Amino acid sequence: MAVTKMNFLIKSLLSLQAILISFFLSGCLQFPATISDFKIMTTSQQELDGTPLRVTFFEVGLGDCILVETPTGEVVLIDGGVGWYCDLIFNYLESQGITRINSMIVTHPHYDHYGGFPEILERYKPDRFYHNGAPDFSSKYLELLNIVNKYKIPAQSLRRGDDLSSVFGPQVQSQVLYPNEKAVTLDSQDDFNDGSIVIKLVYGESSFLFTGDVEEDEEARLIELEGDNLKSDVLKLGHHASLFSGTVEFFETVSPQIAIAQGTQLADIYLFYPRPSYGIISRLKKLNVPLIYPKKDGTIQVVSDGKSCHWNSLTQLESTPIKLNIP
Ligand SMILES: [Zn+2]
Repeated sequence: MAVTKMNFLIKSLLSLQAILISFFLSGCLQFPATISDFKIMTTSQQELDGTPLRVTFFEVGLGDCILVETPTGEVVLIDGGVGWYCDLIFNYLESQGITRINSMIVTHPHYDHYGGFPEILERYKPDRFYHNGAPDFSSKYLELLNIVNKYKIPAQSLRRGDDLSSVFGPQVQSQVLYPNEKAVTLDSQDDFNDGSIVIKLVYGESSFLFTGDVEEDEEARLIELEGDNLKSDVLKLGHHASLFSGTVEFFETVSPQIAIAQGTQLADIYLFYPRPSYGIISRLKKLNVPLIYPKKDGTIQVVSDGKSCHWNSLTQLESTPIKLNIP
């Protein structure tokens, strides 16, 4: 019990610290997007048969920001970072000739996941907006919801089992694995991470698991609920690979070929504890799972043709592409 209380206290202090720092930085400092560094690598490994599924993990400093481009042309943004690097996202979309984002999903109402959404929403006005329904009454989140209302964008809270086939298109099998109704209550404000939206995508023989900011308790719950269905080739690590997430049991159940940690670049400086955590680095190493993260590898893109997939760094040419071995 004492350990649980201590964990809660530490998490509360770190959350408060993160919120204060996010607001301070969002108001006082500007981090220019690294547009001049933005180059798309062309290697023989990028030559794929058929239309690929592309998943881009943008380097946004703090928070998550993931763009999914499906083989049938749907464009979905999962989270929007804190908003410092929106130009990087816009630059990528323009470079690809993408003029529409069909759907935006905010996995949970923390600023490092929705801070960039107001600017992105104003520019791209998606057809649909999804959230987890947690009762956040902060002025920043209400501002986001006001923009959604202003453009009359249909908004829906997602729950385990919801159908997203119209969002990701007919060729990509999509599953909402979390949250269930119990995970999002009026008490959710104590820890919004607990109600993060978790989505699994399957394209051909390749699979992706997006975990929002789930932590150890939710990882255990997901194992109970899903078991082997969690197995995925690409794992977006929960809660920015912090010390509160990434159990051995979860890694063994998901059994990923690569693990990607987002929102780590500035965490060392502003949150005073390293991300990825030493524990996660060590556990993944023992399981021989390559750990990829923007602090080291820049903006990451994973491309799948349904039979094989590979990842590249879009911003750091020295990064070594790894080809995944999907049986
Ligand atoms: Zn977060």
